[in-house]
Amino acid sequence: MTILADDGPRLLRGGPIATAIREQVAQDVATFQAERGFTPALAVVVVGRDAPSAVYLHKILDGCRLVGIEDRLVELPGECSAAELGSAIRGLSEDPHVAGIITQMPLPAGIPLRTVIDNLDPLRDIDGIHPVNAGLLSLGYDGFLPATAHASVEILTQSGIELEGRHAVVIGRSNVVGKPTALLLLREDATVTICHSHTRDLASITRTADVIVVAVGRPGFVTGGMLKPGAVVVDVGINVVDGKLTGDVDFASAARVASAITPVPGGVGPLTNAILLRHLMEAARGQASGRMPPGTRSLATAAPETR
Ligand code: NAP
Repeated sequence: MTILADDGPRLLRGGPIATAIREQVAQDVATFQAERGFTPALAVVVVGRDAPSAVYLHKILDGCRLVGIEDRLVELPGECSAAELGSAIRGLSEDPHVAGIITQMPLPAGIPLRTVIDNLDPLRDIDGIHPVNAGLLSLGYDGFLPATAHASVEILTQSGIELEGRHAVVIGRSNVVGKPTALLLLREDATVTICHSHTRDLASITRTADVIVVAVGRPGFVTGGMLKPGAVVVDVGINVVDGKLTGDVDFASAARVASAITPVPGGVGPLTNAILLRHLMEAARGQASGRMPPGTRSLATAAPETR
């Protein structure tokens, strides 16, 4: 039974968890450097200077510097061709010092996602966009998870929120957030419902959620009236309203009903960045030891005719 606190819900903050992860990653980088004689690099590929996600990507690069990971920004002109982008990603996939690669999304119109996927080594896909990693997740094997989905569930598990047997509702079914989050909650033995833009009578479903993860991209979309008393709320949304960062949950009304809630900013966001750095070090160690998850084969070691 959930007991509602008189003084509002528990705030599930990502910052302290992220700090602990970064400290561990910094130690891992130092150990790796001492053992292998080089610092692993995270390559961030940005196409076009005014990319909407550029701010997010620069934060990742700043995070690398904090823990001693080499940050490599690869900027391509907005009008570059799919072949040029593919060739840049292939080059990074074959660079033994580059342990992980992420590419700015969305790609400019005219460049299909396949351009990235076809040239990205799954072992360097630290944000879990490659079908190999998506497949590993759906089958319950270890692979690289999309960092935001990973953060959305890790903020719950690290905060001691019970998931086993509870009803978790995920609003949003994108390949990067909603769908992998739902699969991870299933892995934690929650009973999972996924809602999307065609879901009928959404509030009647959300009011049955013990845990609700909101990844819609609409500010204040979920209100307190849509929640079951005592629900645990994870707000993945990042929206800018009147110059201020705001989530997909109407915090004021939700806080009157929820037992725990992630703030925006300061919830899932900071944890996402730290988890990405942890993935980078997992990738670096995996590549150095030749360890590969089932179904993956490094492009760098694959025979040319199979590339
Ligand atoms: P997305 O690709 O646009 O997906 C949005 C999802 O919301 C879709 O599945 C869509 O359903 C669903 N949706 C839209 N309107 C709805 C409605 N009226 N009722 C129910 N579902 C509805 O967005 P995303 O990339 O998953 O991102 C979601 C949010 O997370 C955004 O605010 C984004 O900025 C944020 N985000 C945060 C982080 C972080 O680190 N915290 C990282 C990435 C993204 P359909 O599939 O039917 O269209």
